[in-house]
Amino acid sequence: MSLKRSTVKELLASQDLDREVLVKGWVRSRRGNKYVQFIIVNDGSTIHTIQAVAAAENFPEETLKDVGNGAAVAIRGTLVASQGKGQAVEIQATEVIVLGAADAEAYPLQKKATSLEHLRDIAHLRPRTNTFGAVLRIRHALAFAVHQYFNDHGFYYVHTPIITGSDAEGAGQMFRVTTLSADKPPLAEDGSVDYTQDFFGKQTNLTVSGQLEGELAAMALGSIYTFGPTFRAENSNTARHLAEFWMIEPEVAFNELEENMDLAEDFLQSLVKYALANCADDLAFLNEQYDKELLARLHSVADNAFQRLTYTEAVEILKSAKQKFEFPVDWGTDLQSEHERYLVEKHFKKPVILTNYPKEIKAFYMKLDDDGRTVRAMDVLFPGIGEIIGGSQREEDYTKLTTRMAEMNVPAHDLDWYLDTRRFGTAPHAGFGLGFERLVLFVTGMSNIRDVIPFPRYPKNAAF
Ligand code: ATP
Ligand code: MG
Repeated sequence: MSLKRSTVKELLASQDLDREVLVKGWVRSRRGNKYVQFIIVNDGSTIHTIQAVAAAENFPEETLKDVGNGAAVAIRGTLVASQGKGQAVEIQATEVIVLGAADAEAYPLQKKATSLEHLRDIAHLRPRTNTFGAVLRIRHALAFAVHQYFNDHGFYYVHTPIITGSDAEGAGQMFRVTTLSADKPPLAEDGSVDYTQDFFGKQTNLTVSGQLEGELAAMALGSIYTFGPTFRAENSNTARHLAEFWMIEPEVAFNELEENMDLAEDFLQSLVKYALANCADDLAFLNEQYDKELLARLHSVADNAFQRLTYTEAVEILKSAKQKFEFPVDWGTDLQSEHERYLVEKHFKKPVILTNYPKEIKAFYMKLDDDGRTVRAMDVLFPGIGEIIGGSQREEDYTKLTTRMAEMNVPAHDLDWYLDTRRFGTAPHAGFGLGFERLVLFVTGMSNIRDVIPFPRYPKNAAF
């Protein structure tokens, strides 16, 4: 019987010693002397490595010449209690097979630390670093926790389309999807591009949000969520924006703004707690390496109620703040991230949920407040991040909704299907969008959103 491969994670946790094991992974380093060689292996199952000890009498130097940094190896041997410090167990190697050698001179991941900027240029190899291994494992854990949370709370996962025929939400910042020739598109009689000849017979784009379709599903299934890729061609070259990112959008029939805030707060706290409970080793590494306050911040967010206040109250606080802002604040202007971060990091020192924004700066579908000036919007603001969630109670009244659409020049004929939910059995409902990468950014303590997705897309960059 051939021996089954064990992961490094399994071996490090094993109490079952003095047995034959087989491990496969990539060499992180090899060192030693003329009597013994130590081969340090990582296989991605954990941030930790296992040490294989190869005695020179069994492994003359030429048998190990390809066992260098980055090489893929299979090592067979006996799992034993380690003689050395720093690890509980190690492998006394009996066989070392090089599955794939790596040219040591050319291998881009050398022992000395490499900048995160440089690693972005070699994003195809960066998952092999401790940092990106940790980030990717945490990203996975958070995605799993999202599904688990919603499943446990009676939400259904709905797959909304990625190619959309309406540009109601994202006019101006959408990526066009077309099969027409770029240099010689068919023209209509008036000289404009004839989209009736395009693949779908009309103009189509990549979605900026699954919300509108999510609302349709919520008005049938009650509680739903989407979790899929979204695309924004906004030219925001910031550390918090990507052109392709993943968004989680729960939508709940019969919920009003208050319940929407309760859901957002409980959801975020649950996700942070899940990461603390399940990603301890990776978080400890990031805390040590990048941000000594990371763990304390995660615990603080998980355990303390968020501050809730209205946009109007926030503007008062900002106007009387001692701090000088680059952008002045006045009732009616959208808050910039410097304002959001002042509220969260300086004033309240905890996450903030801002509600009831002026209708002029929010989307057409948000429910109008009784004063006619503000809407039932809610933004959740996080330390170090700014906006992590944007959401609202939706306008369920057909007349008020179509009036808002007309005022904001949203073409109603494109959204007939959306308006039907307000014609047939309309009801209060509310939801929000959580940018998945902003969540991963917060939980990992990384400082640039390009470092929390495997292959980031941003202006002038679509490598890999
Ligand atoms: P911002 O003001 O930061 O651009 P937004 O108001 O455009 O955000 P929404 O349209 O409300 O954001 O989208 C919901 C959530 O999606 C945001 O709270 C944020 O977490 C995330 N998000 C929005 N745009 C991006 C982006 N370009 N890259 C990554 N995440 C994003
Ligand atoms: Mg935006």
